[in-house]
Amino acid sequence: MKIKKISLRLLTTLVIGYMILAFGWWSYHLWCQNDLLFEARNDLLEARFTRKNQGLNLTQLHETAEYKAIVRQWSKGRRMIVAEALFFIFCLAFGLWVIHRSANREVTLARQRRNFLLSITHELKSPIASLRLALDTLCKHELPREKLEMLCRNGLKDASRLQTLVEDLLLAARLEDNWRPLAEPVDLPAVVRDAVAGLQIRFPKANIRAELATDFAPVLADRSGLVAVVQNLLENAVKYSPEGAPVEVAASRSNGHLTLRVADQGYGIPDVEKQAIFEKFYRLGNEETRQATGTGLGLYIVQQVVKAHGGNIQVQNNKPAGTVFTVII
Ligand code: ADP
Repeated sequence: MKIKKISLRLLTTLVIGYMILAFGWWSYHLWCQNDLLFEARNDLLEARFTRKNQGLNLTQLHETAEYKAIVRQWSKGRRMIVAEALFFIFCLAFGLWVIHRSANREVTLARQRRNFLLSITHELKSPIASLRLALDTLCKHELPREKLEMLCRNGLKDASRLQTLVEDLLLAARLEDNWRPLAEPVDLPAVVRDAVAGLQIRFPKANIRAELATDFAPVLADRSGLVAVVQNLLENAVKYSPEGAPVEVAASRSNGHLTLRVADQGYGIPDVEKQAIFEKFYRLGNEETRQATGTGLGLYIVQQVVKAHGGNIQVQNNKPAGTVFTVII
């Protein structure tokens, strides 16, 4: 694979090098031909002039219309060669830039797909394995109530992790297919409460504080979409923060707009990555060394759902540390 990559690069460099050299040589050749043509025309003119005027007076010759015409032709030829060369260089540079950009895109896409496959395999395998283990233990052993409860709680945790994953995958597939959100009345505080309760099961040490008005009027939006937005933002805030670090979620309405704000005191997102995190399958760092589980689909889903509702999402640094996601619909 590496050899193939190297030889392909070498071949491309050789072809491009040959093109540049060949073009340079032809340009030089044309340039010389143009000069030769000028000299030949000039010689001819000199001979005719000498015959006509019984002698050669260069100052007089250079004043003639014929001489001026051949000088014009000569400089026009030069201009044409320079313009052709510049146009060729421009086309070559543009072509190389386009090829380089699409090759980079392909490489990124391939890397993201590989990351996605690695993470999805891990995401599916580990809860299934731990559910099997829990069920196996329940079947084979008589357990005290306390242990039984603990096994059930862990089983529920794994089942909810699988459910979130499957819902994300389904929604991501639907979003690819020109998804249109429904406009149904959604009780946002209830959605937030459910998401917090679900996360508290999966992350018992999560420290989530919700600031929601009690008289929050229903929001006209797509229920499954809004649930995905709230769940993904909250889950990320918990996942990418040290255990027990505070996470704040607040929602408000003004001038017909809904604002949802999720702030954490976690590891933060570097400025250069703030756009890329919304790309499908994009995750920070290397998959093999990554600690938190995930597929890189969450923020892609969030942004697409928000956009489909005509809204926008912003990501900023929190103070003193962490990240703030603000959704305005
Ligand atoms: P996932 O969480 O499944 O990896 P997301 O699309 O939700 O995928 O997030 C993409 C990446 O953005 C994550 O892998 C993580 O590195 C980064 N990220 C998202 N939210 C946060 C956050 N609140 N704090 C720090 N990093 C975050």
